[in-house]
Amino acid sequence: MKIQVAVEKSGFAFERVFTYNVPEKFEKYIDLGTRVLVPFGKKNSLRLGFVLKILATNDGECLVENLKAIDSVIDENSLLDKNAFDLAQWISSYYLCTYYEAFSAILPKYIKKEKKTEDFSGKIEISDIILSEYQDSVYKNILDWYFNSDIFCSLLYGITGSGKTSLFLKLAQKLALEKKNILILVPEISLMPQMLSNIEKYFGKDSFAYFHSGLTKKKREVQWWRIKKKLVNIVIGTRSAILTPFVPDLIIIDEEQESTYKSDKAPRFNAVEVAKFLCKKYKSKLLLSSATPSVKNFYYAKSGKIRLFEFTKRYGNAVLPEVSIVNINKNCYNNNSILSIELLNSINKSILNNKQVILLLDRRGMHTIARCLACGANVTCKNCSTTLSHHFVDNRDVFVCHYCGFTKNFSKICPNCKKSEVILFGVGTQSLEQEINKIIPGAKCIRVDADTTKMKSRYEKIFKDFRNGEYNIMLGTRMVAKGLDFDNVNLVGIICADQALFGESYKAYEKTFSLVSQAVGRSGRRDSGGKALIQTFSPNNEIIELAAEQDYNLFFEKEIEIRKILLYPPFADICTIGFVSEKEKNAWNSCQFFFEALKFTAKSEFYDIPLKILSPTPAFYLKIANKFRFKIIIKCKINKKFRGYLKKTLINYQNNNKLNEVQIFKKYKNGVNIFFDINSEVTF
Ligand SMILES: [Zn+2]
Ligand SMILES: [Zn+2]
Repeated sequence: MKIQVAVEKSGFAFERVFTYNVPEKFEKYIDLGTRVLVPFGKKNSLRLGFVLKILATNDGECLVENLKAIDSVIDENSLLDKNAFDLAQWISSYYLCTYYEAFSAILPKYIKKEKKTEDFSGKIEISDIILSEYQDSVYKNILDWYFNSDIFCSLLYGITGSGKTSLFLKLAQKLALEKKNILILVPEISLMPQMLSNIEKYFGKDSFAYFHSGLTKKKREVQWWRIKKKLVNIVIGTRSAILTPFVPDLIIIDEEQESTYKSDKAPRFNAVEVAKFLCKKYKSKLLLSSATPSVKNFYYAKSGKIRLFEFTKRYGNAVLPEVSIVNINKNCYNNNSILSIELLNSINKSILNNKQVILLLDRRGMHTIARCLACGANVTCKNCSTTLSHHFVDNRDVFVCHYCGFTKNFSKICPNCKKSEVILFGVGTQSLEQEINKIIPGAKCIRVDADTTKMKSRYEKIFKDFRNGEYNIMLGTRMVAKGLDFDNVNLVGIICADQALFGESYKAYEKTFSLVSQAVGRSGRRDSGGKALIQTFSPNNEIIELAAEQDYNLFFEKEIEIRKILLYPPFADICTIGFVSEKEKNAWNSCQFFFEALKFTAKSEFYDIPLKILSPTPAFYLKIANKFRFKIIIKCKINKKFRGYLKKTLINYQNNNKLNEVQIFKKYKNGVNIFFDINSEVTF
């Protein structure tokens, strides 16, 4: 028997597969997707691979002499059934990644032999979800869509605090009782505890499986097997849960606009796009939900391509919080502070009334920038072209790089001019916490950011304690701004709303609007009297004003005009091509060569596809972890033809003699890694 195998680390040519002989003793285990160990390269080092194809005896590939034999098999039965195999192939062709990358995302290494799961019932014990009359009318419309509509995708747009979660849980409950399979995705691990406790409350303790990267590999493996063995009708998780072996009848994606649904490493898939693929494949339905939908999906909803359900009233007696915008160019408590007098007074008032406060500051650490007053240079990372942040760790002042993890002791001596004039500015969550402890001494304050939640189980405890009233103030990065539901919070303070506004991505306004209006929405969710204070350096900024008013419709109208004029999604798709290498010159050369190859291929073979290729530029950060990065951005229409164009360009590029001369690809590790990012969102 001879097989074709997708082998790990076999280079960037995404369709390259290798043919191997199978010794007779292994033949009975070989199936599509079986994992095997194969000798690879000159040194015959053993590498993991997935069986991609079992060759027919008359296949031309079989005639090749001196084929290497596989070393061993890992799975006695393939753990990838036909559905998983199809999904892997789709991911590989849609996102232009290697087969191996696609397969290993669907079947991660830690998933091994079948696990015992007999102790698990999967039984659903329903307790009733009560909807208001208003919610119930929308619910009935969604139910009607689910059973009767030809449109497979819909968007539930509801303002913050309108009870979207209860509504889609009710829908899930109804369908689970009919033995349908439901997959629910949330955008962040920090939202899992709240969602899990809701599911437990309404569906029973053992009724579901859950899957996210915050679990230990051992726990993930057990959950994976629960899903694989079809023991559950309900699966809840973050992005990676979309790749588990679950065949859903309904997929619900909460806060669909979040960029966390898009993976930033290979395969660079977007869970929303994968969900669309799965729904078409299984003829199931997709319900997107959001208080601030992505401009793209809202546009599709408006134009009838996807169904739109709107929710414009808050649940029960709650109304939207009263919002004020505070100019922090003045009005601060003192010169070194970023807290306005108004916010400080409001915090004190909330605490006095036994209410709770959420403060959002989307920067962690003590200070975000260290700059020399003498020469003006920023203190930068030795591995990256980023500025170092100042943190206080284990009673020491240190500089930390948020991109590669590099750490060094704090010093006032400038690395550039050697004068002792380095000063710190740009407040982070850690120094905000210190300041609050100092000026509001009685307040109990808890900080939530990547530093305080390294142990993923910490979220659960922090949120539980906050809910039980053990803290007056919860301050943190965007983790505290989204989706959380606390009855007793009547004040939200946004310390600096400008941060995301000037980002490089075309989605900067969308993200700012979403973050601010989501944060504002955490206030006053159960009764009236909720308040939100938005501190900003640009008080007249239109996006911040619209977010304060939570006027999504007007924001959408303005934003869609800009997108149309500048040709951004939904009016064009964006594809980023990245070039990464330890050698700056090689990365830059490849980037330029590829740019030429793109133009050549378009002119000679694909002259009729709509295309705008932007000139090569350095990535947003030129160097990260000692690797230099360059990019080409293409505005295009991503479809089969466009993918064909990229593949053809890659072939033209590889066969280019000029490139062989510079020997870029002779040794993969020292060469240039190229990746494609289809529908890219994250700034590279
Ligand atoms: Zn200096
Ligand atoms: Zn670094």
